[in-house]
Amino acid sequence: MNAAVAAIKPRKPSGLALVPTMGALHEGHAALMRTARESNAAVVVSIYVNPTQFGPNEDFAKYPRPLEADCRICEREGVAVVFAPTDNEMYPGSQPRLRGRGQLAASTWVEELQVAKRLEGERRPSHFHGVCTVVAKLFNIIQPDRAYFGQKDYQQLKVIQRMVRDLCYPIEIVSVPTVREADGLAMSSRNRYLSPDERAQALVLWKALNCARDLFAKGERDPQRLQTAMAQVIATAPAARLDYAEIADGETLEQRQKVKRGDVALIAAFVGATRLIDNLIL
Ligand code: AMP
Repeated sequence: MNAAVAAIKPRKPSGLALVPTMGALHEGHAALMRTARESNAAVVVSIYVNPTQFGPNEDFAKYPRPLEADCRICEREGVAVVFAPTDNEMYPGSQPRLRGRGQLAASTWVEELQVAKRLEGERRPSHFHGVCTVVAKLFNIIQPDRAYFGQKDYQQLKVIQRMVRDLCYPIEIVSVPTVREADGLAMSSRNRYLSPDERAQALVLWKALNCARDLFAKGERDPQRLQTAMAQVIATAPAARLDYAEIADGETLEQRQKVKRGDVALIAAFVGATRLIDNLIL
């Protein structure tokens, strides 16, 4: 083939993609699969509700597990393999659900100690060591060329990027923008816990983030003022209780003295008993 023909012939996507999920799949997950399909020869979706990333009083037991419906979505999206392991396959010889940090039968853990420190890491102390450990295991089992993560879990994305760099994984981490409902609520498997009234009130997270973005666009650079404004919006919904509303450095997630473009506004709030998170890059 001469060079001119080679240049115009569309290149076949090559490589193996991994899309790690906990199942209860929705359009946000489907967007990850579609993005992965565009530039890979095959896509593996893992479906595993990882016990070690849940705190003792969190929703591990009631987390939805509609495996058959999930497999249909994967099939529709052209996924080559669904990897849905058991606890014993992921944590051989241990019962991770029963053990807190420090008393685990599994004695090897993967931890990221910088980006994971604040925000979710502070409120959910064992969350990211569970996430890093399970993602490292999935990387070792599947050995993908690329792995796809949603910006919806912004801190998780940054923790994984950092882990991959620190541990020299030969894997490209691809981030995918947050998929939202028509009114702006970020899609989440946990949205199905919300009653119709809570679902309506949950929109305050998105409203609060937009309020921060508008103030930033008008020239506000004081993180405290943006945080207070976000908290005030959350307070307008009687069913909502703020966990945190913060502006952080877009890479390290450290606190800011002065807000800059590329920083991120992050919110966690309970709506009724359901804890939701969302974020927006400024
Ligand atoms: P989960 O099943 O909640 O652990 O999420 C699996 C992956 O899907 C993670 O990388 C999430 O960030 C991503 N994800 C979840 N919700 C969304 C969304 N609304 N838009 C884009 N990605 C998402």
